[in-house]
Amino acid sequence: MNQIGELEWLIIGGGVHGTHLSHVLVNGLDIPPDRVVVLDPHDEPMWRWNHCTSNTSMSHLRSPAVHHIGLEPMELLHYARAEGESKGSGFRPPYDRPSLALFHAHCQQVFESGGLYELRSRGRACHICKEGDLFCVDSDQGAIKARRIIVATGMGERRRWPEWALKLRADGAPTWHIFDDEFHRSMLDDFHRVAIVGLGISGAQLATHLAQRGDREVHVVARHDVRVEQFDSDPCWLGPKCQVSFRRRRCLKKRREIIDEARHGGTMPIDVARPLLQMEQWSRLQLHKGGCESAVIGESEEIQLALKQGQQLTVDAVVLATGFEKPRPDQSWLASTIDELGLKCARCGFPIVDEHLQWAPNFFVSGSLAELELGPAARNIAGARMTARRIRKALG
Ligand SMILES: Cc1cc2nc3c(=O)[nH]c(=O)nc-3n(C[C@H](O)[C@H](O)[C@H](O)COP(=O)(O)OP(=O)(O)OC[C@H]3O[C@@H](n4cnc5c(N)ncnc54)[C@H](O)[C@@H]3O)c2cc1C
Repeated sequence: MNQIGELEWLIIGGGVHGTHLSHVLVNGLDIPPDRVVVLDPHDEPMWRWNHCTSNTSMSHLRSPAVHHIGLEPMELLHYARAEGESKGSGFRPPYDRPSLALFHAHCQQVFESGGLYELRSRGRACHICKEGDLFCVDSDQGAIKARRIIVATGMGERRRWPEWALKLRADGAPTWHIFDDEFHRSMLDDFHRVAIVGLGISGAQLATHLAQRGDREVHVVARHDVRVEQFDSDPCWLGPKCQVSFRRRRCLKKRREIIDEARHGGTMPIDVARPLLQMEQWSRLQLHKGGCESAVIGESEEIQLALKQGQQLTVDAVVLATGFEKPRPDQSWLASTIDELGLKCARCGFPIVDEHLQWAPNFFVSGSLAELELGPAARNIAGARMTARRIRKALG
């Protein structure tokens, strides 16, 4: 890392949230670009988003066209019109959900026209302390000093692995989580029988993609039936209808309960469910209900899964689409920072922040770290935009 002087803003994490926030600071609030740095371990902006969305084979986003990383809500629609909607197949109803190709093309345009590549510095934060008015961020590439910081580290590094799958991987069987850094779906080309464990939107998209190719056995192992919901939480969470009463709740335990209840985990929109069920009807994939209890490697190196209800399933590779662990910030790399700076956490381990999303003066958070203030949409693209609005307010 080049020696970085004293900064006005350091953003830790350069995913969807950190990238949008850097754009807002430099191009929305005119903070000079040499006063802002985005610290992230990857070369490319939004590397994890690109990696995860590519592994699912998703064609369209779940969220509407007004949720993107640009500054103005209608920007993606205007961009698509200017491009003659030649990037992918444009938008899908309801709510004008953009194709992934169009969303990516727009992101690329924002990175380039907004000078966002130049703001990035490769590295990983491991501790934050205070020196006078400045935050001093220790990273694997050296120390960085900044007057204000935003922690936008996402939750993509806490993938959910059941015990049996951890053991299977340790024994050397081809077992991955769909969002593992080292996994790419093309790796499945070497295997004839594949089990996908988990039936949320990502598992359904990958299973449908493999089944449509029609060149292998595809099995989906799930604890529940296909569950259909348009969004991963009700759109009321983006406006006053749900936000006002949420913010009136002073009890953080209650807020946590509301968030957990409002999030539609393990669901998918109808346009993802329909082709999956069609593939099942055409016997191009099999749904096994009840979940997996244990797994062993057989004599010919095949994987034998013991499913609940006594069923056995033999496959050559396993892909988990089991989502993420609830990442408790007080048990992550932030734990020592929480102690050192005396940062307050609720019982669920998440930050207690003010209305401007400050955990301490000039220490802002985004994504799941902000959810006790922003509600269940905090970790989505809409959450990044809500965070930007709160930070703008904080700056007056
Ligand atoms: C497959 C998939 C599809 C989704 N589709 C949608 C959708 O259609 N609409 C929607 O609104 N939401 C969607 N989401 C949810 C959400 O928008 C994404 O997960 C989004 O990527 C979250 O952005 P983020 O910046 O918080 O986290 P991430 O994208 O995970 O980025 C965080 C970055 O911080 C880095 N980092 C972590 N720790 C450190 C550290 N200590 N120091 C420095 N850097 C660090 C990480 O390496 C990463 O690069 C989807 C999620 C997935 C997985």
